[in-house]
Amino acid sequence: MPKLSRTHYLRGMFRKVLIANRGEIALRIIRACRDLGIKTVAVYSEADRDSLHRRFADEDVCIGPAHSSRSYLDPKRIIAAAEVTNAEAIHPGYGFLAENADFADICASCEMKFIGPAADVIRKMGDKSAAKKLMKEAGVPVVPGSDGTVGSIEEAAEIAGKIGYPVIIKASAGGGGRGMRVARGDEDLQTAYRTARMEAEAAFKNSEVYVEKYVSNPRHIEIQILADEHGNVIHLGERDCTVQRRHQKLIEEAPSPVLTPEVRKQIGESAVRGAEVAGYQNAGTIEFLYDVDGSFYFMEMNTRIQVEHPVTEQVTDIDLVREQLRIAAGMQLEMTQSDVTIRGHSMECRINAENPDAGFRPSPGQITSLHVPGGLGIRVDTHAYAKYVIPAFYDSMIAKLITHGKTRAEAMKRMQRALEEFVVEGVDTTIPFHKRVFSDPVFQSAKYDTSYVEKFLAGESAAKLEVTKSES
Ligand code: ADP
Repeated sequence: MPKLSRTHYLRGMFRKVLIANRGEIALRIIRACRDLGIKTVAVYSEADRDSLHRRFADEDVCIGPAHSSRSYLDPKRIIAAAEVTNAEAIHPGYGFLAENADFADICASCEMKFIGPAADVIRKMGDKSAAKKLMKEAGVPVVPGSDGTVGSIEEAAEIAGKIGYPVIIKASAGGGGRGMRVARGDEDLQTAYRTARMEAEAAFKNSEVYVEKYVSNPRHIEIQILADEHGNVIHLGERDCTVQRRHQKLIEEAPSPVLTPEVRKQIGESAVRGAEVAGYQNAGTIEFLYDVDGSFYFMEMNTRIQVEHPVTEQVTDIDLVREQLRIAAGMQLEMTQSDVTIRGHSMECRINAENPDAGFRPSPGQITSLHVPGGLGIRVDTHAYAKYVIPAFYDSMIAKLITHGKTRAEAMKRMQRALEEFVVEGVDTTIPFHKRVFSDPVFQSAKYDTSYVEKFLAGESAAKLEVTKSES
């Protein structure tokens, strides 16, 4: 008798899903599963024994020691946990194995549904210079630069000469803001090229880099895509993630306060075209740089659910994780492009256990007391609780504070109220930083670019210096 694949038993939705992640996103996925009547399996490392995702899931499996290379990043352990619990699908969340094409291949060979796009699409989009080439061919605007990777400093110099300085050298396998260096002239090109390559080799074991024009004063605008396995592709509007520190997002909002309806339509349509050309399926994000003059350029595609997905959920009333599960189970999108309407404004602050007054130094340890804000227009996605010990092994995000209002002004007011109510004791957090940003007239005016945080912090330290001088 031929071996029946696990998915042959499926009738409609999955019965059991394993979540290959931790923290708030693991809880987020458990919640979506619960709404759909799907049983959940949590995996956890020894450092996460007391974690909420373990407690909230129907079943849980310890997959190894704290170090993620021997737990959350180890495909063998994850697949073994899925096999013993009879899970039909694996949701990777974000980070860890979410954009690992080999893991998606392993899942397929084990007849386990990977909740995300096909392995070859992850591979294709993970190679940033190749993805850029593909988008260019599809007619999506891209930042001027090298056609693929550059093999020598001479080649980089030649391209820089053609497109003009400043240029940015970027790792082809890049992510998380690493492997990126700006060169303002011939004199710093060599250092930028060498450093970007070294950083890329260290972080991604791949030193390939490409060159592109460094767009001055851009905003970061990204489009949320949903694509089913039947050829339907739609977008759910944009998120504005311009508030970044060292290329890492700190505050996100939807819709963007600066796009005109025409540009909004053009970016949305470009993103849909890009996803179609890539053969994309499931939820994904296409990131663009937006220039003050209204032009926009493809930057990269993220083939997973994003940290900042809730702001899109708040303004569209569409549960993105539910859609991911439905798409992976082979169902059709329930809505068309014309069904998508944007309602009001949503903002998100990433609350990290970090000390903003000490260069955002991580602050792991025990949360001695916790009060989470509430009220109309407030959503908090968190795995933190009073007495929870934040392990030092993983990322420092402990909560996402999300607000919704009829207007940006209302969403901002509600954020200020919620930040005032939020109490986290025992560890340092970025709450005080967010409070200061939300009371800054420049932030309130929405007239800034990706250099905002750097300038804001420089302004603050200059002001502090003034105070110290006048006191002494
Ligand atoms: P990663 O995958 O590491 O996050 P991205 O390509 O998404 O890298 O870039 C992260 C951030 O770096 C962007 O949001 C933007 O602020 C900045 N950036 C990247 N490329 C450029 C460019 N060509 N010009 C100006 N800023 C850029």
